[in-house]
Amino acid sequence: MHFAVLGSGSRGNSALVRSSDARVLIDCGFPLRETVKRLARLGIEPGELDAILVTHEHADHVHGVELLARHHRIPVYLSAGTLQGLRKPLEPAGLLTAGQRLQIKDMEITAVGVAHDAREPLQFVLSDGRRRFGQLTDLGSVTAEVLECYRGLDALVVEANHDSEMLARGPYPYPLKARVGGQWGHLNNQQAADLVAALDWEGLQHLVLAHLSEKNNTPQLARQCFVDTLGCDPDWLQVADQHSGLDWREIA
Ligand SMILES: [Zn+2]
Ligand SMILES: [Zn+2]
Repeated sequence: MHFAVLGSGSRGNSALVRSSDARVLIDCGFPLRETVKRLARLGIEPGELDAILVTHEHADHVHGVELLARHHRIPVYLSAGTLQGLRKPLEPAGLLTAGQRLQIKDMEITAVGVAHDAREPLQFVLSDGRRRFGQLTDLGSVTAEVLECYRGLDALVVEANHDSEMLARGPYPYPLKARVGGQWGHLNNQQAADLVAALDWEGLQHLVLAHLSEKNNTPQLARQCFVDTLGCDPDWLQVADQHSGLDWREIA
């Protein structure tokens, strides 16, 4: 299995996972042209995609979904709540609920429910039967379901959204600070690092920090928090950023 990130942050999120037979895009928060450009950077034509999984209806995750799916006839899978929340309606290939499994060629996908201020948000674990990859962003708190589903992975992309002090002192108006830092918002660096510490993370080949706030976090702070909490090698940690995302990584 391989995975890559087209870009991650409040201005657009999209990740790509491939097995021997399947190519699956998770979210598409970039305009169509930008998405095609970013896919090309990873050597992928939009027509090669077997499915788009959508986590939730926030614009940084769905901005380009409808156009990409329609122009290139790509099946879209999402929850009924997310479908209702979309500004541009689309005809889904299938509806997902938390805990449900979906098979796309040789890839098995598990939908995981998360605590986030969207209608019916999901995150995803993908497996080719041999290795397991987890995508986990946009959650304000860690639930038993998350701890159970993300245990013992081979690769994990996890949200490290903000540093709580930077958020408190930063430029956001109070209601937005409360939303971002709340139970249904986003994980701060320490919450994310504690979450990973609570999983069997020693088997991870890749740990990627994602959805970093450009106003309320820095890659240095996020990395340091994980290094301090996990005691891991700083060079092993990877950060997926807004502009360049993350190039293909192999899950051996
Ligand atoms: Zn988001
Ligand atoms: Zn969101």
